Amino acid sequence: MSFSSLVSNLTFRDSDPEDRSQFSRSRSFASTAATSVSISGDISSQLHGGYSHPLARSWQAERQLTKSMLIYPLFISDQPDEETSIPSLPNQYRRGINKIIPFLEPLIQKGLQSVILFGVPLAPGSKDAHGTAADDPQGPVIQTIRLLRARFPQLFIVADVCLCEYTSHGHCGILREDGSLNNQLSVDRISDVAISYAYAGAHCVAPSDMNDGRIRAIKLKLIEAGIAHKIVLMSYSAKFSGCLYGPFRDAAGSCPSFGDRKCYQLPPGGRGLARRAIARDIQEGADIIMVKPASSYLDIISDAKNIGKDMPVAAYQVSGEFAMIHAAAKAGVFDMKAMAFEAMEGILRAGATIVISYFTPEFLDWLSH
Ligand SMILES: [Zn+2]
Repeated sequence: MSFSSLVSNLTFRDSDPEDRSQFSRSRSFASTAATSVSISGDISSQLHGGYSHPLARSWQAERQLTKSMLIYPLFISDQPDEETSIPSLPNQYRRGINKIIPFLEPLIQKGLQSVILFGVPLAPGSKDAHGTAADDPQGPVIQTIRLLRARFPQLFIVADVCLCEYTSHGHCGILREDGSLNNQLSVDRISDVAISYAYAGAHCVAPSDMNDGRIRAIKLKLIEAGIAHKIVLMSYSAKFSGCLYGPFRDAAGSCPSFGDRKCYQLPPGGRGLARRAIARDIQEGADIIMVKPASSYLDIISDAKNIGKDMPVAAYQVSGEFAMIHAAAKAGVFDMKAMAFEAMEGILRAGATIVISYFTPEFLDWLSH
């Protein structure tokens, strides 16, 4: 008796002889077919068993999302009592310093471990050509760093470092007369701002300006100041220009008054350029490299993980990505939570271990259940 007919007989023996229905025949056929695959030696074709259970499915991922991977962006205005919703960025608000603690308290109880701060000066006359307000000791970022350090000692505070929120022209540095970035002056100024945030108590400074050489300048100043050993330097290494930043610019009031940022942010097709920028920033002393945006640039995240094998890689799921998921969910395209997880899994699969995301409050709930 052949093995397949033995299986067939066993199947029939177990079934009621009065009920040799079409169902039991087809079941017999299915088991015989599966066995014949196995005995022909092609066992590797049988994959379903390995992910049949939800827990077994989660084990298929190289890394799984945890609360400690998430950094939540906060927009801090210079109007102490402000709490203004940002229409293009669902559920996100611009807040003054007096509103920050009550907002963060429940999130920290749910497991929030890190925030990234963006200052938003709104007072008339607060912007100038040099972004003087960026490191104003009475400005929203430095005041908020101090407050958060005092009230939430366990919270890891990242300070975004750029001038665009503070310059009258809205560009990410100091300009020459022809409107292009003066790299030397910009790097000098941005590295000074970074040191001010570090002195104020930020655990991590994250320059997002994309001026050449700013990582080296910041690292050297941190060393000179004697604080390099306790400050994480996270570089927006591969920050691409594009149309996914619109809601952020609404929130931060950082839209350039003329031109665009294509001469310093990376062109979307520039994979090789991104690899060079990542390699350079590692050489210049970055502790973490970041790719921004995230979901349209998964190949770049993967490149960053390859180039920076021994470094943490961060990805910024930017305002446009977040707003798109919200809009599509609202239009009935998919369930928002399912898509938020799927997008996040893609970002982690590509190689990120840190994700800056506006979905952080939701994930703190979702990951608790
Ligand atoms: Zn900027």
